[in-house]
Formats: sequence, C-alpha cells, structure tokens
Amino acid sequence: MKGALVRQVIIIGSGPAGYTAAIYAARANLDPLVVASSVEAGGELMNTTDVENFPGFPEGIQGPDLMTKMQEQAERFGAEVLYDDAVELDLDGAVKRVKLGSGKVEEADALIFATGSAPRKIGIAGEARLSGRGVSYCATCDGFFFRERVIAVVGGGDSAMEEATFLTKFASKVYVIHRRDELRASKIMQERAFKNEKIEFVWNSEVVDILGDDAVTGLVLRNTVDGSTSELALDGVFVAIGNDPRVHLVHGKLDLTPEGTVWVDGRSSRTSVPGVFAAGDVIDPTYRQAVTAAGSGTVAALDVEHYLAALGEAGEPDVHGDQIENLAGADATV
Ligand code: NAP
Repeated sequence: MKGALVRQVIIIGSGPAGYTAAIYAARANLDPLVVASSVEAGGELMNTTDVENFPGFPEGIQGPDLMTKMQEQAERFGAEVLYDDAVELDLDGAVKRVKLGSGKVEEADALIFATGSAPRKIGIAGEARLSGRGVSYCATCDGFFFRERVIAVVGGGDSAMEEATFLTKFASKVYVIHRRDELRASKIMQERAFKNEKIEFVWNSEVVDILGDDAVTGLVLRNTVDGSTSELALDGVFVAIGNDPRVHLVHGKLDLTPEGTVWVDGRSSRTSVPGVFAAGDVIDPTYRQAVTAAGSGTVAALDVEHYLAALGEAGEPDVHGDQIENLAGADATV
C-alpha cells in the first residue's frame, strides 16, 4: 500500500468515540481525517431513538441528531470526514496506512481505531436464512414493517427493553424472550417495559430455531429450566442480545483481550502497536455507553497528541521506527 500525503492522525470510526477524538484532535491542530464508513456513518446511535442519558440534553435527544451534532462540532474545528470504509490496515511501519474502499490509501503518523461494535447473532440456522425476512437487529430501521403484527424481541438487557418498548408503536403484540427469569436491563427500562400492556415476557426461554420459508412464521423455544420445547407463532423477531467489538481489520495486527476487545495499556488508549490507539466500544467489554465512548475518544486524542509531540521532539516522524517504540515506552506514564 502506498499513499501520497502523510497526515498526523487518521481516526477510523464515527461513533461517539471517533467524533469526540476528532473534536479534540482538530482543536489540537492535528487536522484529523475521520474515516466514517460508507453506510454506517455515525455508528450504533444512528439506529437508536431517544437518548435520555447523554449529559446536557435534559429532554433527551434522538440518536441520529446527537451524532449529527458531534460531526458538526468536529468539522467546525477542521476535522475532515470521509464517507468511505477502511478495508485494510498496514500497521507495521512508523507510518500507518489505511486502504479505503475506493482503493485510495491514506497515511498518518498515528491512528485511532474506534470501530465500535456490531449486533451479536444468536447463531442458529434459521437466523441467517431469514435475516431481512422477519429477522432484524434494528428496531428503528425495521419496526415500521411490522404494523399490527405479532413480533418478539430476544434479550434481557437495555437494548431489548428499548427495542420492545419502541416496537409497541407498530406491533399489536411484542413478546420479550429472555433466557433467565431476571432482566439485566436498568430498573427504569425494566419498569417502562413491565408497564406496557402490549409487551408479554417469556421467561427462562432460548430461541433454538426460527421457522418460515420466505418469511418468519414462528419460533421454537427451549425452556432453560426443564428443557421442554414449544412453538410460538409470530411474524418477526428482533435480536437484541448484545454487541461484539468490530475487530476484523486488526486480527493478527493488534493484541486482543480474552473478551475479544482491542487490548490497551491500562487506562490509556495505547494498543500493542506504537502509534496505534483505540477507543470506544472496541476496547470496552463492560460499560459501552455513548458517554463512556466519548470519554474514551478524548483519552485517545490526548494520547495521540503526546505521542506526536514526542515524535516531533525526536525528529522527523517517518524515518525512525525504532525511536517510535522507545518513545512509546518512555511515554507510558503520561
Ligand atoms: P447486554 O447488557 O449485554 O444484554 C444482553 C442480553 O442478552 C442479556 O440479557 C443476555 O442474557 C442476553 N443474551 C446474551 N447472549 C444471548 C444469547 N446467545 N441468547 C439469548 N440471550 C442472550 O447488551 P445490551 O442490552 O445490548 O446493552 C449493552 C450496553 O449498552 C449496556 O451497557 C447497556 O446499558 C447499554 N445500553 C443502554 C441503553 C440506554 O441506556 N438507553 C440502551 C441500550 C443499551 P443474560 O442477562 O442472561 O446474560
């Protein structure tokens, strides 16, 4: 891979982590390039409705509106946003290279990897076959297609409660299928779902098959207590069982944790490769909130600022791979 201009920093990802990193990096005159994705720009919050827990918005804000504001704020300070995908990374040398879907290669002295996470699949046969034909991972995208239909949401966390509550705007009935008899969701989200008359909980149940030829017609459930199976007739199923970090671009290039997230050094954003930093859901197996991702993006931008300043003091950034490693080590207490 070979590019033309070596930038100071490229940020891959345009969720709260990516855009917050861009705001800080742009304000530090690092002229960041944000590779925002061709179809998923704005990240997971683009698939959300009300965001009620992002500080500064007492009345709540729609997920897409929040992301638009973050992008505007980054661009106001000079961040360049590119609607393209990073398809291959070369992290070996002092200069990091990002190959884009267009075929172009962008280069920078530092990289912030903030690719977020993707919805987890149940992993059963009917799921892939009927995906887009009644199986969905996004209530805000597909809820409209289920007017006056009977549907189910699988999961017991905040996402499942949020999706189930939202889907009652369209569906005549929403089953929530959870593998235990206790929800993981926050109390406020639980209460909202419990109060909704269109929602019925199916406890201690796992989906073991999704029925239907061209469209979903029902689910096969297995009772997790006594092992018995049963069928539930319905028209659609929304899977909301959590997310997995998007690490396919860095497999074999960056160290990962046992949870599958990108490994970072302590509370910093430094990855196992000098000059490569990571932020947001892709490093976080635990909290995964918009506001924690934004904070993590801040950490990454500040780490990059220190890294580039140290490179600048040492000489030309693109001619001293060994020094970069030494500098990253020396910088460990920053
Ligand atoms: P989560 O909290 O990890 O919950 C996943 C749920 O799916 C759990 O109830 C889990 O069951 C269940 N599950 C996992 N794998 C399963 C499988 N293979 N089959 C059946 N069920 C399975 O994920 P999330 O709900 O997506 O939330 C992720 C993070 O985002 C959380 O920190 C959450 O607070 C946050 N979030 C916040 C909001 C909000 O505040 N508005 C909205 C959405 C998400 P067990 O409980 O048995 O493990």
